Order: sequence, then C-alpha cells, then structure tokens
Amino acid sequence: APVAQSNDCTFRTTCPYCGVGCGVLATPDGQGGITVKGDPAHPANKGRLCSKGSSLAETVGLDGRLLHPVIDGARSTWDEALDLTAQKFRETIAEHGPDSVAFYVSGQLLTEDYYVANKLMKGFIGSANIDTNSRLCMASTVAGHRRAFGTDTVPGMYEDLEQADLIVLVGSNLAWCHPVLYQRVVAAKQDRPGMKVINIDPRRTATSDLADLHLMLEPGSDVALFNRLLVEIVDRGLVDEAFVSDSVDGFDKAVEAARADDAAVTGLSDEDLTAFLEMWTGTEKVVTVFSQGVNQSTSGSDKVNSILNCHLATGRIGKPGLGPFSVTGQPNAMGGREVGGLANMLACHLDIENAEHRAAVRKFWDAPAMPEAAGAKAVDMFQRVADGKIKALWVICTNPAVSMPDADAVRDAIAGCDFVVVSDMFATTDTAKLADVLLPATGWGEKDGTVTNSERCISRQRGLLPAPGEARHDWDILSDVGRRMGWTKEFDYQTPAEVFREYAALSGVAAGFGRDFDISALSDLEDADYDGLEPVRWPINAVRTGGRFFGDGKFFTDTGKAKMLPLTHRAPAAKTGPKYPFRFNTGRIRDQWHTMTRTALSGRLSQHLAEPFLEIHPEDAAELGLKPADLVTVESPQGRALLRALPTDRVGRKQVFAPMHWTSEYASAARIDALVRAEVDPVSGQPESKASVVKVTRFNAA
Ligand code: SF4
Repeated sequence: APVAQSNDCTFRTTCPYCGVGCGVLATPDGQGGITVKGDPAHPANKGRLCSKGSSLAETVGLDGRLLHPVIDGARSTWDEALDLTAQKFRETIAEHGPDSVAFYVSGQLLTEDYYVANKLMKGFIGSANIDTNSRLCMASTVAGHRRAFGTDTVPGMYEDLEQADLIVLVGSNLAWCHPVLYQRVVAAKQDRPGMKVINIDPRRTATSDLADLHLMLEPGSDVALFNRLLVEIVDRGLVDEAFVSDSVDGFDKAVEAARADDAAVTGLSDEDLTAFLEMWTGTEKVVTVFSQGVNQSTSGSDKVNSILNCHLATGRIGKPGLGPFSVTGQPNAMGGREVGGLANMLACHLDIENAEHRAAVRKFWDAPAMPEAAGAKAVDMFQRVADGKIKALWVICTNPAVSMPDADAVRDAIAGCDFVVVSDMFATTDTAKLADVLLPATGWGEKDGTVTNSERCISRQRGLLPAPGEARHDWDILSDVGRRMGWTKEFDYQTPAEVFREYAALSGVAAGFGRDFDISALSDLEDADYDGLEPVRWPINAVRTGGRFFGDGKFFTDTGKAKMLPLTHRAPAAKTGPKYPFRFNTGRIRDQWHTMTRTALSGRLSQHLAEPFLEIHPEDAAELGLKPADLVTVESPQGRALLRALPTDRVGRKQVFAPMHWTSEYASAARIDALVRAEVDPVSGQPESKASVVKVTRFNAA
C-alpha cells in the first residue's frame, strides 16, 4: 500500500514526463481527483514544476481508460488473457525458437517493471529481443559513454550547471524539453551575470533566447565542430597533459583525425566559429549538455564521442561545475539503462557479449537460458516483425505504430504480426487498436516503484489512487505471465519492493566486476524503508549518499583509462535534391508529451499550441506561395502528412520542422513519424529522426 508522507495524506512522488525527474506533492481529494505542487525537498526541482508537471491533476481520472482485458475486441477475464498470452509465447518459442518473440517496452515504465520484463526475456525466454522507445531517445549516448568510459556512466549532475561559467547546449531545447532544469539555469545566470550560455542548434528555439551565442550549424555537422574545437585546444596548448597521460588512451589518433576534418561543413561564419572556440577554450568550468539533436542521428554516437574527446583532452570531467552531460528525454530512460532493458545490454551495466557477465547473471537469476549476443534493436525489431521472423510481440506502455520512424510501415508490420499483446492505460492508441490481446495497466498516480532521472537520482513514484477497473501493475502482469510460462518461483513477486531488492542485490554482483552501477546498499531495504525511500543519487555508498564519477581519473575500461576516438564528419544519410529539397527536423513542443495519451487530457496544455504545424523559412514559404496558416502537404519517400504552415526564421533556408506528438486520435493526417526515414546510427541503432528529406507543397483541397 502507498504510504502517505504527512498527516494531510499528501504523497511525495515523481513527475512522469521528462528526464529532469521532478518531485511532486500530490494530494488525493477523496473523489478520484488530486491536487499537485512541486516538492520543495526534491533535489531535482526544489519545489518547481513546469506546465506539464503542474497540470498532472487534469490528467487523472477514468476518461478513456481501458478497464478490463480484451481478446480480439471482446471483453475477457484476466485468466483468459494471460493464459492465451503465455500459451502463444510458449508455442511460438517451441516452434520457431526464442528469437521469434519480442518485447517492445518504454522509458515510461518504472524500474521494477523494466527489471521483470528484462529478466523474463533475457533469462527465461532466452532471447535478447527486448528493446525500448529509449532507443529513439538516448541510445547514441549509451554507445558513446561505453566507448569512452567503458560503461554507460553519466558524469554530470544538475548542480554542475549552476556552478559552470559556460554552459554549451548542443541539440537541446532545454527550455521546452527539460523546463525545470532550464529554470535552474536561468536562475543561476541571473545570480551570476558572468555565466555564459552557447546554444548549438540548426533551429532557433525558446532555449536560444537565453544564449549569449547561438550557432545555427548545418544539421548533422556537430562532429566537425567539436573536431575543430579539439584542434584549437591542442594548438592553444590547453591539453591537460598530466590527465591525458595518466587517464586517457587514443589522444594522438583522435587529434590526427580531427585535424583532417573540415569545419567548413558546419556552415558557420568565421566570426561565430571563433567566438565559440574562444569561449570554450577560455573557460575552465564548461558543462556541455547534449540531447536529442546529438543522439537522433546516423552519426549520433560519434557526435557524443566528439564532445567527450574535448572534455577528456582538457581534463574537464568529474569535477564540480564542468563536464559532459547528456540529459535524457524520458522519466525513466536511465532506469531502463540500469536494468539492461536495451537489446544490447545485460542487467546492471553488465555486457551481454561477456561470458563471465552472462554466467554471473544467469547464476543470480537461476536462469535456464541466456542469449549470447545482442537482440533486435527497435528499428530492426519491427523490420523482423514485418519479415515474419518475429511472430509474437508484446508492446508495453508505448505507441510504436505512431512514434517509430517509417511509422506507416511499422503499423502495417504490427497489424500483420501473428500475435500482438499490448499493455496500456488506453485502448485508443494507434498501437492498442492492433492488439490481439489488450491488457489494462495502471499508470502514474496508481503504481508504485522507482525511476532514475538524468543525474542518476533514484526517486519513488507512489500510488495514491486506486487502480481503475481491473487494471494491474506492469511488473505484476509480466510476473504472472512468467509464472504461467512455467517459472513460478522465479517470478513469484508480491510487491515492487521485492523486485527492487533483487535488482539492488544484482547491482552488487555487477560491482564485483568493477562496473559503475552499484546500489547494493539498498538491497536490504525493509518494505517500510522502500515505501519511504528518499531520492538518492548513485553511486550509493554504505551510508547511502551519492558520489561523483571520474574525479579520480579512473574509468571502467580494461585499462582503467578513458578512450578518445578518432572521428570524422559524416553527413546525414538522406540527401536533399530536386525531388525532396527540404531537410526535415522533428521534436517536442513545450506542453505535449510523446503521443499525447496523457497531456491531451488537459485543456490547459492543449491551449499552448493547439494543432500540428510546419515551421518553414519565410523566403521558402514565399517561393511556394504560402501564407501563414495555409495547409501544406509534406511528403517524403516514406509517407505523407498534412500540416499548417508556420513561416518563421527560426529555421534556416530549406529546413523545416514539425512537432512529433499528434496521432490518429487527434490529427490523423499529421503522423509525422510516417515521414521519417528509418536510417540508424551503425553503432547505437538509434534512428535519424531529425534529418529526413521532404518536399512541401500547398495543399489543394480540390
Ligand atoms: Fe515534469 Fe520534466 Fe516538467 Fe519536471 S521539468 S515537472 S519532470 S515535465
């Protein structure tokens, strides 16, 4: 049962939206509603909430909720739905092998849900075919971290942004996508007028308003820019020789590759480029924050490493007020990484390709099987569904039929799959409509567990409302299917606290291999301690306070040294040309979240930007004969959408931008991921969601 945190029945919980992970004080009104305010005691937000977080009360209730299981469109019992799910998965595995089934999960899941899903697929089904919508969010950062540090370790903390003298925001619209962290930066800049901000983004955004310098670089040219910075660091004699000598491998080759690259591809003026180089090299305390503009690219992993290279060369890592810092998009993208909920990871930052790691996890789980290689990453997974290689698919807490690149093809692939299970709060999502079995899941405010935010802080989400209808928690549904598949003892969880203790204990096994992720100090939490768990940042020492990584110059590679990589600029995969002359960028808006399943319930949030639009440069609009608010057809080799033209110089010539949120429920012609090319980074498997190519024409209703 959830624990009230004060006498007036106010619950301390965590916002379900972005990776800032703000603490929320939520008070049930006894009639199914709640009031919310920011939690002043939470270290992420210190009482602040953004528009989305402060509208949470408008998004609870029974409207549109899936209240009972459904099989083939008809109401069923839980027993019927779970028996059928277990039977179909068992039969498919028996006939076609473990890789013929897959789970597609979500950075919205709680860590306990994620852990059970990963354990069921990797340890017991014996396939690594579990991937997540976080693949679309930060997989390139995971790959970049692992290449440089040996583990997926985020070195940054939010207070670093307040202590920095220069914040460089790369591919990050912090003001809209991580609003409370942005508010903290704004407040710090007001307190310390000497603090500077550089915004690196092909598009001018709300974040650019805060910037002292905005670099509208050519889309996809970040590696060339940071290679140029690395050369400048060397030529100005700013290399931290002692740090590089003691703690870094690969310096010479990285510099050699950087010298061979050409910053001209960034399209920046000499004046802007010089200003950037002088500000970065002239400031000791630099934090480089990066997000989806870096990650969602066919060169995303290289972009990450190009940033890390500059911080490693100067020793600007692991100390207060400086360092590279990836901010995650989703509320529990980090928790998903920790439990290994990506097709190429094992649990607790252990490596799936490492036989000793596999053996240790297998022993810990007492598992009958363990895959020896990575499974299908998101884009590949749905291609395998389309090809008929994956015949049974379970989608949990996400909506790939509208959010995956090449979304029409993904929707068709799911529709054609032999057996599809969808667990969700709503039956009305594009993906839920394709399910053979629909399972009603609890959502924010109803479920209990933990999430980890962008700065590695683990916080509790607490259930403060009863589960509606027959809805059940995801960890419970997954465990029940595990038991019905024959693993009764291994999935005999009764509470999320039991799952958490097991997961924390497994992190101790990982720590035995010298891995970074260790929360084993929490493995002995009593139920009441788990219910009352305060936010805590890992690594967690014996007295349960969080530490900092890399300040000692020690990394998690075989040599103990970080690696700088030799990198070369690569242009986006899709090329513009006469047929598709526009570069197509996608992203979030301030007041909607993902495919709007929750935020669209708030009338207040829908007032901000009420309908989908296409930002287009005024001169391009004039050439096409477009007036503001004209309807335009946007067409790519993959698909077509209908949007309203918004002429603005926030985008450059021959570049257009559209928000990603609208689905068939709200604007069936504006499913913009149907336009996005399913081209991925070869290292991370993350799709290039910001650099497809399209043509734009005035919509002619006739
Ligand atoms: Fe929620 Fe993110 Fe807003 Fe904080 S900044 S209230 S976590 S959406």
